[in-house]
Amino acid sequence: MNKAVNRAEFDLEVRMVGVVPESAEVVVIGGGPAGATAATLVAQKGRRVTLFERERFPRFHVGESLIPETFWVLERLGMLDVMRSSRFVEKHSVQFVNEKGVLSEPFYFADHKPQESSRTWQVVRSEFDELMLRNAAAHGVDVHEGTRVLEVLFEGSRATGVRVEDAAGAVRTVAADVVVDASGQGAMIMSRLGLRDWDPVLKKAAIWTYWKNAERGTGRDEGATLVLQLDDKQGWFWYIPLHDGTVSVGVVAGYDYLFKHRETKDPEAVYFEEVARCPGLGPRIAAAERVAPVRVAKEYSYRSRDVAGDGWVLVGDAFGFLDPLYSSGILLALKSGELAADAIVAALDAGDTSGPRLGSWGPEYVRGMERMRRLVCEFYEGFNFGRFVKRHPHLRGHVTDLLIGDLFNDRVDEIVAPLEALRAEDRARA
Ligand SMILES: Cc1cc2nc3c(=O)[nH]c(=O)nc-3n(C[C@H](O)[C@H](O)[C@H](O)COP(=O)(O)OP(=O)(O)OC[C@H]3O[C@@H](n4cnc5c(N)ncnc54)[C@H](O)[C@@H]3O)c2cc1C
Repeated sequence: MNKAVNRAEFDLEVRMVGVVPESAEVVVIGGGPAGATAATLVAQKGRRVTLFERERFPRFHVGESLIPETFWVLERLGMLDVMRSSRFVEKHSVQFVNEKGVLSEPFYFADHKPQESSRTWQVVRSEFDELMLRNAAAHGVDVHEGTRVLEVLFEGSRATGVRVEDAAGAVRTVAADVVVDASGQGAMIMSRLGLRDWDPVLKKAAIWTYWKNAERGTGRDEGATLVLQLDDKQGWFWYIPLHDGTVSVGVVAGYDYLFKHRETKDPEAVYFEEVARCPGLGPRIAAAERVAPVRVAKEYSYRSRDVAGDGWVLVGDAFGFLDPLYSSGILLALKSGELAADAIVAALDAGDTSGPRLGSWGPEYVRGMERMRRLVCEFYEGFNFGRFVKRHPHLRGHVTDLLIGDLFNDRVDEIVAPLEALRAEDRARA
């Protein structure tokens, strides 16, 4: 049922949604990219899916940069035509600016894979997430905005449904064969069952805002994501040009570095102290004006010990979150939503919604996430792409595969031994 959709059709479908049902085969908590993906793909198979989203869309969300491998899930969702005809800025590369402000050779995705999927987008999340949710409704998902899930109901260790509060304040119980937790970093089920493991290494935080009239590239560089190092390499800035004329500019560094060991605790003051420490950034925003408040994210990299249990499954940030260095969040939300949806459909077909069945995709997914995590950790250890690729030119393709999000194949593991050798060399030299 991959029908092409447009905004008018979305609006119509969503207005048609009414009363909260007493039961559904699948209930999804949260209408972000992960929830919308899981819900759409299950509904495409003719299953009854109800999705509860506490906000009314459009709503603000950080995380604007897609990576190329999102293409394949967007295709399954029937979202490609929507994206192609959108005003989102096209992204063709990621570019690194070092601690002295020098731009390294860009990684153009199409140089590695000359195909349509190598062009992706920088999205204003309020718009992208709304398009994804409307697309879910257009595929038959029963979407309820302004409806908060108060609690996931369990009988023993089996999830049996949810208790929700609708926009009018009425509280209702909805029974379900499968509850999908896509509630983002709030992670309802992970929090309730005490499953969250914080990443022992990536204890970071982010501070960001939006600028107008900031410098932008031209041609195929117009939508490049820039990763700009601080002068002391304690952290980095993202620089993401958006179609509304703004550029999203945020710093990521150790939580202690940003908030513990300095005189000011005011995030805005910290942000500007870090701008002053980023030689590549200053000139790019010299003539720009700030057009949004400064925001902070402190809940950083974590993962659940389990991806599923009897009658429940976790997707997107409700399963795990990885440092945004390589813009992997939406890819992981889409990918986990897709893998979970396929497992849910197979489980419903088999009449077996046990944890092992619903979570059968978990190990493969975690291996992919771990590959991205490894690359993130290497960056913070001082990994230099240019130097690595110069030393191992035949591995350039694998590095690019990881940067585009092609995480779910064993081939890319060939870079591990050379990476470790380079690290050992650096340690011996230090
Ligand atoms: C600083 C920062 C920068 C980032 N940059 C990038 C980037 O450049 N590129 C990228 O791909 N990713 C980025 N990310 C990550 C990305 O934003 C997330 O990974 C992505 O939003 C996850 O999608 P999701 O659907 O799992 O969760 P969300 O998008 O958070 O959606 C969860 C939804 O659930 C709803 N919800 C929550 N609780 C309830 C409830 N009780 N009842 C009903 N609804 C509920 C929320 O309102 C929300 O709409 C960044 C993240 C951070 C913190």
